[in-house]
Amino acid sequence: LSGNGTKTHKTINPKLNIQNPTAFHQATLEEVNEAVMLADSAFKTYRKIPGKQRAVFLNAIADEILALDSELTDMYMLESGLPEGRAQGERGRTIGQLRAFAELILKDEWRSITIDEAIPTRQPLPKSDIRKTSIPLGPVVVFAASNFPLAFSTAGGDTASALASGCPVIVKSHAMHSGTGELVASAIIKAAEKTGMPNGVFSNITGSGRIVGSALVKHPKIKAVGFTGSIAGGRALYNLGAERSEPIPVFAEMGSINPVVIMPNVIKNKSAETAATYADSITVGTGQFCTNPGLLLTIAGEKTDAFIKDLAEKTIAIASQCMLHPNIKDAFVSNGEVVTSQPGIKIVEKIQGDINSNFAASTICAVSGADFLENPKMQTEVFGPFSIVVKAKDQSELIQIINHLEGQLTGTILAEKEDFAKLPAITDALQTKVGRIIFNGVPTGVEVCESMTHGGPYPASSDSRFTAVGTESIKRWIRPFSYQDWPNELLPDELKNENPLNISRRVNNERTKQ
Ligand code: NAP
Repeated sequence: LSGNGTKTHKTINPKLNIQNPTAFHQATLEEVNEAVMLADSAFKTYRKIPGKQRAVFLNAIADEILALDSELTDMYMLESGLPEGRAQGERGRTIGQLRAFAELILKDEWRSITIDEAIPTRQPLPKSDIRKTSIPLGPVVVFAASNFPLAFSTAGGDTASALASGCPVIVKSHAMHSGTGELVASAIIKAAEKTGMPNGVFSNITGSGRIVGSALVKHPKIKAVGFTGSIAGGRALYNLGAERSEPIPVFAEMGSINPVVIMPNVIKNKSAETAATYADSITVGTGQFCTNPGLLLTIAGEKTDAFIKDLAEKTIAIASQCMLHPNIKDAFVSNGEVVTSQPGIKIVEKIQGDINSNFAASTICAVSGADFLENPKMQTEVFGPFSIVVKAKDQSELIQIINHLEGQLTGTILAEKEDFAKLPAITDALQTKVGRIIFNGVPTGVEVCESMTHGGPYPASSDSRFTAVGTESIKRWIRPFSYQDWPNELLPDELKNENPLNISRRVNNERTKQ
């Protein structure tokens, strides 16, 4: 938990803008090494513990988190400024994720088993028996995200999926919610002890100022990294992973402004309700979601101008809310200034007057398609309640704008039946840029399920082939492994001829349970 280093830091109560009393000692580099060496030794046994037993561990973590009760939610609110409903909702999601992975690993189907039986009589050469399973990579470092102190942090999706796959986890705690992180870490350690997991299967490391995080990524025994946060941070860690003498994958989920295409018939028929829905989506959680709609794409016209005015008024009518910590507030203000000082952009409405220290002044801006196209700075992520509405001169410019965008987590299309004929060209363009496409909805709110893609082309994520949310996110921590002509009794159960686990497998190119 808290380290033995002489350097300390305190978390902040963002609502009152004061430091919380506890001083957290940062981990020393010796402690970093100790945690990694323990994880490496735990890996030797943990990787072989059957899925059913690892599932008991994951469920025990969920139980221990629940047992923390209001001690945890009070600490969460104190350190994040987020309200009680959100604390409870996020705890529910965290527990739900742990239980979903526990359910997944009861069976070994997630290992994508394939079997190609031998054909000794094949001409001109006999065919060998080849069987493929998936095995865990090794110790994983998870960087806790500031914007989800529970669901993307200590026992969040990255940790749950890595532990489910058979990888020990070392969490680099987020310095702005170290207390929340320590409570959750103590729950994980209790669960590990109660369920007989090897020492070192989980560690929580405290640190700020990059030293601890860099040392973890550079440690030769670390085999993969999960990260959620800024583009600068994710890219720096990705580079560190690649520069090692043994490069490792760094799965970084970073910036996204989540374009929303609003078709003309929606503005004609549903202007007021769309403005209300989007004012809510832009401001929910003080805009601090990676799926926040930061870019609305429209076709210019009088009705569009009226829609933008209505959206802006409805957005600033929602009371200013607290941001997670002073650094996020500073980034919100400075990135907002970068974008709003670009030629051609106009602030339509911004909350005015006295804004409490860490509270955010929601802002809606507008710009022409031509000005947006000319200036890449307009795509800067302003993490918080901030959106730009782009007015394209026609559909062809709108598509040009989509083609000009950086990679994104999501793309949304709002359309009426009469717009359908125009959608294929827009959808085709969006598909090359995003990981998930939403129809007549909002991008905020990410379901945890097998079909979810939470990732996208760079810089939304560092590897668009994987999702960071949902049970498929386990694939980030495993590698394929094939056995050739191996004696049946020496094969792992999931590959044996008699299929003792009774799981679905692909045998000789057909899905079968035999
Ligand atoms: P961050 O600055 O990216 O930091 C997140 C974690 O990464 C921290 O633990 C930090 O460690 C570590 N880190 C960052 N750069 C590093 C480096 N060069 N070497 C080693 N470790 C490094 O994110 P944040 O503090 O959560 O928020 C800052 C900004 O990130 C926000 O204002 C927002 O713009 C963006 N953000 C985006 C999302 C999203 O989903 N799109 C989510 C959260 C935040 P240290 O504490 O030791 O520095």
